Amino acid sequence: MAFGEFDLIDTYFTRRWPERDDVVLGVGDDAAILKVPEASELIIATDTMVAGVHFDKQTPARAVGHKVAAVNLSDLAAMGAEPAWLSLALTLPEMDHDWLTGFSHGLREICAYYDCQLIGGDTTKGPLSLTVTAHGFVPVGAALRRDGAKPGDWIYVSGSLGDAGLALAAQQQRVEISDSHYRRVLERLYFPSPRVALGQNLRDIASSAIDISDGLVADLQHILKSSNVGARIDVDEIPLSMALTGSVDADQAISYALCSGDDYELCFTVPESRRGVFDTAIARHPAKPTCIGRITSKAKDLRLERNGEVWEGMTGKNGYDHFS
Ligand SMILES: [Mg+2]
Repeated sequence: MAFGEFDLIDTYFTRRWPERDDVVLGVGDDAAILKVPEASELIIATDTMVAGVHFDKQTPARAVGHKVAAVNLSDLAAMGAEPAWLSLALTLPEMDHDWLTGFSHGLREICAYYDCQLIGGDTTKGPLSLTVTAHGFVPVGAALRRDGAKPGDWIYVSGSLGDAGLALAAQQQRVEISDSHYRRVLERLYFPSPRVALGQNLRDIASSAIDISDGLVADLQHILKSSNVGARIDVDEIPLSMALTGSVDADQAISYALCSGDDYELCFTVPESRRGVFDTAIARHPAKPTCIGRITSKAKDLRLERNGEVWEGMTGKNGYDHFS
């Protein structure tokens, strides 16, 4: 008998995967049965990755498995949620056991790390594409949203920005960088770290939050639109890695951080009155949030500044055009 859907699930997606007490019935029936903790709300996010669109042939299968979970967990993190379950829809052109081995390893590693159980899904034949739905919990009313920023709130980002964009540019030979820098930034493109713990720590502290998937400028604008506010950003405060600043000139590095996507850091706002609590709660956080600016009352106006003046780097020949 041919290797079918049940063999595939049994071989790659069953043994040595995390198991949780709140899963009454997982993979194997028509649907899963799940217990949501009392006084919690369910937070759900879905993301699709299509071969040739979101990743290319040279992307290792393990990285695809990691990333398709990571991008969903990053959305949960931006809501302040604690991850619990994942479901997976897998469309495969053929039964490729090497690829499935790598893919399932990558997915299982990140699920194990966040104690996230695979609770079901679907497999079909067709052009390579993956859809993951992630489910998580927050205490009732505690979710972080995009619509709570107020004038005067401080704007923060976690980690550093622009590395994944630099990796992609180097891969596509739009920029030349050293092998050691390339290895560092490629790791960030392939294996992003969703800021799950930080997101949970920001409940009751942040007034709004979003994860940076499309670039700081694009994603911060979602907060500005939802909250009906503006922002001032000091471009020299944006956290940049040594791999980025060591590979391109200063304004280009800022442009990568502002405009290229795939960083999966969090951008969030903290009211002045919560700043002391924030500094105490977050001071030793590994994702080291950096304050980059402040929310203003000028609706949907995003002002990029250097020394209080409008920063012109985006329009220069080394700036924004680089990304168009
Ligand atoms: Mg998002």
